[in-house]
Amino acid sequence: MQISRRHCLLWGAGLASGSLLGACATPSSTKTVSSMGFFQQQLGKARITALSDGIGRRPLDAGFVKNAPLAQVQAALAAANLPTTHIDVPYTCFVVELDGKRYLLDTGFADNGAAGTGHLHQHMRAAGIDPANIDAVIISHMHGDHINGLRRKDGSLVYPKAKVHIPQDEAAFWLDDARMLALPESGRGGFQNARRVFKGYPRELIQLFKSGEDIAPGISTLAAFGHSPGHTAIRVQSGSERFTFIGDAAHLPVLFVKNPDWQVQFDMNPEQARITRHALLARLAADKDWVGGYHFPLPAIGQLQKSGAGYEWVPRK
Ligand SMILES: [Zn+2]
Repeated sequence: MQISRRHCLLWGAGLASGSLLGACATPSSTKTVSSMGFFQQQLGKARITALSDGIGRRPLDAGFVKNAPLAQVQAALAAANLPTTHIDVPYTCFVVELDGKRYLLDTGFADNGAAGTGHLHQHMRAAGIDPANIDAVIISHMHGDHINGLRRKDGSLVYPKAKVHIPQDEAAFWLDDARMLALPESGRGGFQNARRVFKGYPRELIQLFKSGEDIAPGISTLAAFGHSPGHTAIRVQSGSERFTFIGDAAHLPVLFVKNPDWQVQFDMNPEQARITRHALLARLAADKDWVGGYHFPLPAIGQLQKSGAGYEWVPRK
C-alpha cells in the first residue's frame, strides 16, 4: 500500500500500525505534522502541541446541522473532499508549555470512549510530553468528550496532581442537582456524566474561574457561551503571537467555520451559539490569531480567512 500524507493524518489518530508510524515520520525543527497523532509549533516562548485523542465516526443525518438542508451539508462535505454518508469527528486536545508549566486543554476520553478514541497519552509521549508532568488541565466546557479523560472507568484520576480549571458557569449548571432532577431520566445523561467525573474529585485540585479571567500570565479566557451555558475559549499569548483554542464554538471547520450560521445538533442554545460563533471568528480573523478547535483535524492549528458569509480555516503547513 502506498503511504500518503493523507493516510498519515487519518491513521495517525491512534489507529496506525507500527509500520505506518515508521513510514510517516516527518521530522521538522519547529513544527511537526506527524503520523504520531500530533502537531507542534512554537508560539513566541510557548510551545503549542495539538494532540489527537482519536476519531469518532457517526452517520450523517438531517439532524446533524439543525438549520441547513441535508443536501447543503453534503455539498459542503463534498467540496472539502470528504465523504457525504458519514462524519469522522476528530477529538483534538492541546498542550500549552509556557514558563516551565504544561497545561492540557480538554481531555479526550481516556478509557471511557468508543473504539478509535483514548489515544491522547500515546500521542503525548510521541510528542515528547510525559502525561505525568501535566501541571494543569483547562476545561472549555463539561460535555463528556471534553472531560471524560480526567477519570478512568475504574474511578482513578488520570491527572492526580494537576489543577483542573473549570468555567464556573459550567460547573454551576452541570453540578446543579435541582436542575438535573427537574429533567426526565432520559435528559440527565450529561449531568450524570459530570458527576461520574467530578463527584469526590479532590476539592483542592479544582479551580473555578469566571470566563474572561486569566488562568496564568499569558493564558486568558474568553466567554463563548451558547454551545453550552459556560462554554469558554482559551487564549495563549507570547510576544506578539497568539493562539486561541475555541473548543466547540465552531464544530467541524469545513461546516461551521465556513458557515457560522449553521448550528450543530449539540449547540444547547443554538441562537446564542450562532451569535457567539460569528463574533469570535470575526475577532480571531481580525487579530490574525492561530486558531484551533476540539473537533478540528490535525494539524488543528491554522488561521482564518474571510470567505463569503463565513471563513476558510487554513491549516498551518
Ligand atoms: Zn465536543
